[in-house]
Amino acid sequence: MLEISVKCIGCTKCVAVCPFGALSMSGKKAVVNMSACTLCGACVQICPVEAISIKRETASKDFSSYKGVWVFVELEDSEDLSAEGDIRKVSFELLSEGRKLADSLKEDLCAVVFAAKNKNYERILGEYGADKVYFCENEEFTVYNTDIYCAAFSALINKHKPSAVLFPATVKGRDLAPRIASALYVGLTADCTALSIRDGLLVQSRPAFGGNIMADILSPNSRPQMATVRPNVMKISQPKSGKIAILIREDIKIDKNMRRVKVLKRRMEKASSSLKIENANMIVSGGRGMKSKERFRLVEELASVLGAAVGASRAAVDMGFKEKSHQVGQSGVTVSPRLYMAFGISGAVQHLVGMKNSDIIVAVNKDPNAMIFTAAKYAFIGDAHQILPKLTEILKKGLKKD
Ligand code: FAD
Ligand code: SF4
Ligand code: SF4
Repeated sequence: MLEISVKCIGCTKCVAVCPFGALSMSGKKAVVNMSACTLCGACVQICPVEAISIKRETASKDFSSYKGVWVFVELEDSEDLSAEGDIRKVSFELLSEGRKLADSLKEDLCAVVFAAKNKNYERILGEYGADKVYFCENEEFTVYNTDIYCAAFSALINKHKPSAVLFPATVKGRDLAPRIASALYVGLTADCTALSIRDGLLVQSRPAFGGNIMADILSPNSRPQMATVRPNVMKISQPKSGKIAILIREDIKIDKNMRRVKVLKRRMEKASSSLKIENANMIVSGGRGMKSKERFRLVEELASVLGAAVGASRAAVDMGFKEKSHQVGQSGVTVSPRLYMAFGISGAVQHLVGMKNSDIIVAVNKDPNAMIFTAAKYAFIGDAHQILPKLTEILKKGLKKD
């Protein structure tokens, strides 16, 4: 229920901001048409005198009208502020996982896209499992903006009532999801590493207490159930060629005045994406066992010969062997390369959680009981300082011959 109090000074800001035309002026006071209002909260934020409030009913346990698993489809940023980039890989990961959840619930999987132009999204996202694509088309969506995206997404949720919404735990997803959760007064579980359905509820699993236990979190008293998932945690399913999703165009009115931040210019980092651990096919990683920054170069040399990215444990980062952007694990980056090589890394649970989805794991450690060996396909008990230069030399020669 939305209420407008006597504090209203008739400034009309709320009327301009409402995406659903639910507000109008009656004399010098704002009035609301509750049959059009979706309780998105945009007017509450903009009112300069806090005259608008939303009173939410205490949780009703009848959520039968909430149906569908939604995935926020994140697009790449581009230097050109008038063009949005391609769909980010993590969106396909979430759709693949969302498909399994939707099948368990016998509900639809819906992709949500905010963009200025439809780039065949119904076909691309359909192949990755989406039954429907809610396409919100507006030039204002080209550059991500917290206020505009939050108001539009909240309005969409209130209109269609999904049972669960998944966001990528990226910079945008981590910004957007909590705002929406707060606007809608629902729960949110951040950085989930596994999702499943139990008794019709979304089981949101994530490491807790410093990664020492896995917690299963449920949101039985509110809808939608919302979760963020890090990139590279979920596997992408094989796309189904030719499957096309139903495209539903959503006409959401956007008031530019809602935008409190405007991006004037964007400069993209020119670093080769193949050497970023996030997208790398091969990663050679080192830990505290490398002993010093100088000796850590042995890890970098092997990576260079293989054309692999360089990873590091948190201990190696803390000791200054490598920059934080190379840290693999719970408080670093989650990776899933074809090949992950770990030298002098013990395999603490916080490290394993960030690389255990790699296709092939090779570990070198002088301790036969090191935890890293539980995840490794090839385990070498030995001194990394001796093995690394030899391996690099052999590969150098081998690769030259080829
Ligand atoms: P150590 O545990 O000290 O292991 C060094 C290993 O090197 C040992 O197994 C040893 O046998 C081996 N070794 C020594 N010398 C040699 C040699 N000459 N040849 C071969 N092997 C040798 N850690 C992460 O990595 N990533 C994270 O994101 C992360 N997040 C965390 C978040 C929280 C909330 C907490 C509490 C911890 C986190 N940690 C993280 C830290 C984690 O618990 C471990 O402390 C860390 O991973 C240990 O790094 P390491 O394996 O390099 O060092
Ligand atoms: Fe409009 Fe949202 Fe305010 Fe309702 S809560 S009147 S839909 S801006
Ligand atoms: Fe009244 Fe607030 Fe709306 Fe202005 S924004 S018209 S003060 S309710």
